[in-house]
Amino acid sequence: MARAAKIERIRTHVLRYRLKPEEKFQSAFSTFHDRWACLVEVTCEGGLTGWGECLGPARANAATVADMAGLLVGRDALDIEPNWLLVYDQFRDQGQRGLTMTALSGIDIALWDIAGKHFGVPVNRLLGGAFRTSIPAYATGGFRPVERKRREAVVEEVSRYAAAGFTGMKIKIGFGIEDDAAVIGAVREAIGPDRALMIDANHGYDAVEAIRLGQRVAEFDIGWFEEPVVPEHLEAYRDVRARQPIPVAGGETWHGRTAFAEAIRLRAVDVLQPDVCGCGGFTELRKIVAMAETAGIRVVPHVWGTAVGMAAALQAISTLPPTPPRHEAREPWFEYDRTPHPYREELAGNPLTFADGRIGVPDGPGLGIEPDPQVLAAYAAE
Ligand SMILES: [Mg+2]
Repeated sequence: MARAAKIERIRTHVLRYRLKPEEKFQSAFSTFHDRWACLVEVTCEGGLTGWGECLGPARANAATVADMAGLLVGRDALDIEPNWLLVYDQFRDQGQRGLTMTALSGIDIALWDIAGKHFGVPVNRLLGGAFRTSIPAYATGGFRPVERKRREAVVEEVSRYAAAGFTGMKIKIGFGIEDDAAVIGAVREAIGPDRALMIDANHGYDAVEAIRLGQRVAEFDIGWFEEPVVPEHLEAYRDVRARQPIPVAGGETWHGRTAFAEAIRLRAVDVLQPDVCGCGGFTELRKIVAMAETAGIRVVPHVWGTAVGMAAALQAISTLPPTPPRHEAREPWFEYDRTPHPYREELAGNPLTFADGRIGVPDGPGLGIEPDPQVLAAYAAE
């Protein structure tokens, strides 16, 4: 019988960096003025500590985690599934999706980190073992800058990614069909025919516009068309899939297995993008992956966070089974945010490695990274 790891304390770290005017950028519906993060630190009696991260509004996540903490203090951190269900059951009535699930994700990731450290293995070993030790990374960027002309800025940016060795990249669209089509064409010309190019509308279109845009830019060999329409409209996703040629991706704002089950049943997307920091942590992600696998739908997780969230995603992606089964397996991508964010990787005492277009899966116990206390203090939100 394994030794227990009794939870003594759960606390959050809300981090903030105010972007300089020239660093500010826009997606289809929002302007980024700050880089926020909500990290979860779970400490056990005896000092064993695990870390997690919550996707989405940092202060609201922190408040929700604080509310959940009382349920878990005194319990065994290694009872991951019972702990998950205990919290979910108590918050279900108002919390099947949204902040409850993002907060619970951060706690769940921290508990898996503790379990890995307790048993002295990386999380991917606890999840059944890794299929790969490094993952091809695509660069996420190409937002609309606030202070510069979009087209020249995005072309310059993707050229940097190509020079850095990225074999794929994703740019943001949702700023109007004409403008988007011109930028997509310019980007394809800049990066050449061999690199993968994905587009992400951050649900800035409706089905009519998304279909027109997809038909218009398919000639530029687009890997996927992400979040063409708002995530609530699953039938509209089906329309977009049926009436334009680019594979459709989505899932970063769906939470919990029931939301994913509906999208999978309707075959709303070609590429499912659960975020381990949002969908319910490793515990829920593996159930979502099992459903997608059963339905024959690709999984390429969404990643948007600090080194903690990145390490969690790397652990998870390393365990995704190769599909379809064949000798030269298609590999899942790791989404590597390259937008301005000074503490994203600085946070990791032992930094993540990127070489030849691939990012290494940390092989230390748990998540395999440890936040640097000095960085936590330097970016602590007041
Ligand atoms: Mg996205």
